[in-house]
Amino acid sequence: MKEAVLFDTLKEYFGYENFRPLQKKIINSVFEGQDNLVIMPTGGGKSICYQLPAILLPEITLVISPLIALMKDQVDGLNANGVPAAYLNSSQEEADKQAIFQKIDNKEIKLLYVAPESLQFVDRLLVDGKVSLIAIDEAHCISSWGHDFRPAYTQLGYLKNRFPSTPILALTATADKATRNDICKQLNVPKAKKHIASFDRKNLSLEVKPGIKRFEQISQFLRNRQSESGIIYCLSRKTTEELASKLKRKGFKAEAYHAGIDHLNRSKIQDDFINDEKQIICATIAFGMGIDKSNIRWVIHYNMPKNLEGYYQEIGRAGRDGLASDTLLFHSYADVIQLQKFASNAKNEEVQLAKLDRMKQYSEALSCRRKILLGYFGEYLQEDCGNCDICRNPPEFFEGTVIAQKALSCIFRLKASEPISAVIDVLRGSQNELIRRNNYQELSTYAIGKDISWHHWQQYLIQLINLGYIEIAFDRNNHLQLTEQAKKVLFEKEKVYLADVKEEKQNNQAAKSG
Ligand code: ADP
Ligand code: ZN
Repeated sequence: MKEAVLFDTLKEYFGYENFRPLQKKIINSVFEGQDNLVIMPTGGGKSICYQLPAILLPEITLVISPLIALMKDQVDGLNANGVPAAYLNSSQEEADKQAIFQKIDNKEIKLLYVAPESLQFVDRLLVDGKVSLIAIDEAHCISSWGHDFRPAYTQLGYLKNRFPSTPILALTATADKATRNDICKQLNVPKAKKHIASFDRKNLSLEVKPGIKRFEQISQFLRNRQSESGIIYCLSRKTTEELASKLKRKGFKAEAYHAGIDHLNRSKIQDDFINDEKQIICATIAFGMGIDKSNIRWVIHYNMPKNLEGYYQEIGRAGRDGLASDTLLFHSYADVIQLQKFASNAKNEEVQLAKLDRMKQYSEALSCRRKILLGYFGEYLQEDCGNCDICRNPPEFFEGTVIAQKALSCIFRLKASEPISAVIDVLRGSQNELIRRNNYQELSTYAIGKDISWHHWQQYLIQLINLGYIEIAFDRNNHLQLTEQAKKVLFEKEKVYLADVKEEKQNNQAAKSG
């Protein structure tokens, strides 16, 4: 497709002069007939990547989207811009559906939004060659590695078989490396081109504090934020309500929001928040999907989220206008234990526990938090960010290259077959069943770290994970494995700086106050 045509279409239908980073590349790749996977943060501009091609492609574009509520907004928006679009879902009247089928037959529709549960409606209408593009929004829902697995998505794998010549464009705002590969595998597009946008949101400050006397800390936080909009995320409905009443008593325009509140009231609360009638929403994670409010100035996590994807998505609702915004996460061991319980009742227990572990490591970080966060999504920051609590108030560091070498060579000798606890046992020369069974006492790295305590090793290994030298293999019992970066330490004399391990006291305190 000619560049000029792309720019003209962007201007004519969307009113924009320029493409955002990656948009043009993705659109070109769609026109080349490639399968593509797009990882772009919320607000990055994913929709145009399929909406613009849909306008220019000869046949219909199918958009699979999980949220019926959002579908309607999108379709209304497109129609208002002069792009003929429609949606099909199970809640529609039969007559409405028939009218849409009729329009499809008459080629009067360019984009058709369908929930994955409703794909059977489309089945009888579409044959190969009649669909120009299949866009799959929130594509991480197909993967049980992801944080929001939805069974209805699993059937999408057959689309490629059915429409082999139709390019697939899968899009998501959140997917770590394992999830990305799994998405492509599940969708039967192993060779899809991956487009990964930067996840860095420099305008969001990051801060983690122990979850002690949380309400006092929040009051303190709000002291100079009398008129700023913000969200406080809580784990339980009860907490959202208690917190909202406490804030109201203090004179704040606060409101609780959770899935137990009826639909009408929820819409009202959302609208009031968007129109600045309400200042603070105390919410469960039910709040926020599809909320387009650009001036949210802060997000607090009263409780720890269950994984970094969720955390990132939730803090990402602040500062969409690009202005400086603050985020604060309370870290408590009581929360960790609660989340562990939830995770261990879940179907994909191991994955969830491993993700929770990363969340915990982030909370306990001793090096730039943004580096860790972005590293989790596969993006490496060269410099520390300067806009997180660690950067602003750094712990004491020492040169720990030898410690790092010991740890890394131990993992190397163990052939990446053991989780963190076993690696520490080998380093410390423990004598237990696991060591004997595997003859680990024969390894050259056995007991090379016996002068360092278990707790210290644990903290150092977490640091090395956070620094990007070690990865946790979710798919293999959380075994530790070396990254490409580790070679620099083992073979190229790269120096490693570790933070002094703080004593556990603080954490215990946090646990008590829950
Ligand atoms: P996502 O789906 O990635 O969360 P959207 O597609 O909803 O993001 O886009 C987020 C916002 O950015 C929307 O208001 C959209 O109109 C706007 N936007 C998208 N592309 C551009 C562009 N090239 N120039 C200016 N604004 C854009
Ligand atoms: Zn930082």
